[in-house]
Amino acid sequence: MLKIYNTLSRKKEEFVPLTPGHVGMYVCGPTVYGDAHLGHARPAITFDLVFRYLMHKGYKVRYVRNITDVGHLEHDADEGEDKIAKKARLEQLEPMEVAQYFTNRFHEAMQQLNVLPPSIEPHASGHILEQEALVEEILKNGFAYESNGSIYFDVEKFHKSHHYGRLSGRNLDDVINASRELDGVGEKHNQVDFALWKKAQPEHIMRWPSPWSEGFPGWHCECTAMSRKYLGRHFDIHGGGMDLIFPHHECEIAQAVASQGDDSVKYWMHNNMITINGQKMGKSLGNFITLAQFFSGDHEKLEQAYSPMTIRFFILQAHYRSTVDFSNAALQASKRGLDRLMEALAALERIQPQQSGAIGKEMADELAQKCYDALDDDFNSPIVISHLFDACHTINQLIDGKQTISPEGLERLKEVFHTFTFDLLGLRNEAEGGNAGREESFGKAIDLLLEIRAKAKASKDWETSDRIRNELTELGFEVKDTKDGATWKLNR
Ligand SMILES: [Zn+2]
Repeated sequence: MLKIYNTLSRKKEEFVPLTPGHVGMYVCGPTVYGDAHLGHARPAITFDLVFRYLMHKGYKVRYVRNITDVGHLEHDADEGEDKIAKKARLEQLEPMEVAQYFTNRFHEAMQQLNVLPPSIEPHASGHILEQEALVEEILKNGFAYESNGSIYFDVEKFHKSHHYGRLSGRNLDDVINASRELDGVGEKHNQVDFALWKKAQPEHIMRWPSPWSEGFPGWHCECTAMSRKYLGRHFDIHGGGMDLIFPHHECEIAQAVASQGDDSVKYWMHNNMITINGQKMGKSLGNFITLAQFFSGDHEKLEQAYSPMTIRFFILQAHYRSTVDFSNAALQASKRGLDRLMEALAALERIQPQQSGAIGKEMADELAQKCYDALDDDFNSPIVISHLFDACHTINQLIDGKQTISPEGLERLKEVFHTFTFDLLGLRNEAEGGNAGREESFGKAIDLLLEIRAKAKASKDWETSDRIRNELTELGFEVKDTKDGATWKLNR
């Protein structure tokens, strides 16, 4: 039984999809005005694990992750310039050129991190009509007002009949009372109101016609409009980073309730933040390190380059609801852990099983059960990793000849290791193709030498068999003769 922590109820709940066998999941995607940084990798990898595990459990999952290419203003107070338009003005580019460029870069980084593409990746700019329809519905229901060509959500009115602040736990009565003195400032009736539609200023390039003015939708509209279009008015999971709980997701709930009468989402899931020296890593805070910089090592805070899988492993080593503090030491430790896992996987291929092997299929079954239990407990990836590390210990004992395993036991152990490491945690052997292809050829050459040695021994050619063994030992190989043949490992 899968349990998911629901931010709305603040507890773990049994996961029961609205439609048996199917899951609809929406995750807030990136705003494409800059390179993806470590803070973007976390939700991408967190919900990639969720996506992979739900599919593994047999659900048919429709995973929607949007691209925000319009409407995200510099300050959360609906003031300031559109982030994408600002970047375009600075670099003399079409706004869509900027959005496309960074969308491509984002996809490239996601591919490197082995993050599966979502089922649908809608762009905000491609769904202006759907957003206008949403605004229309909210206006019709009386929860929004027009002011100088712009449309604002009437938070105070909404709060009288519905609870605004239930996701974030903010007490809006206090916020509303505190901001009442500011009434009449600007176009809003109240400082807590948020824009559903903004009239474009003459210099604003990104603009669309609407019944109210030529302008653009408010940032919160897109997720409500696009999730509704692709997942329906009610769907299972809505995810994103914790920093989106307020105001973004609070506003999404308000928009859904104000338009259709109830919230669309059954389970709200939020990943915690990545911090640098305890402070959130973010573009707007200017303390971020981009993924490309991690992969190349080209940043003053980085002591070395870190591969995409080291980053992925680093993120999965923490539960998604815990904070993760970036440091070189932590990443280096992740690299060692990942190496250990990959070495164990390679070693599994060299183990010679024995009919009378002491370890049977049960050990691997038990390992699988423990890992499933961890994932069923709100996707607890660090626990999965710790169980895999325990199994690495057994694998080393098998390689050292201190333990024996039956053929079925070995088959099942390989299967379980592959399922959790590759299919569910989504790790990739980075040596593959590059180094690993070479490692494999090199391993096979050693196997061949040991085969020649076995033949030499069988025909009592002791000179050849000793020579192979001695020279391999000198090169750092440890060759062990077992009754099922010789095994080897490289001790360096
Ligand atoms: Zn969103």
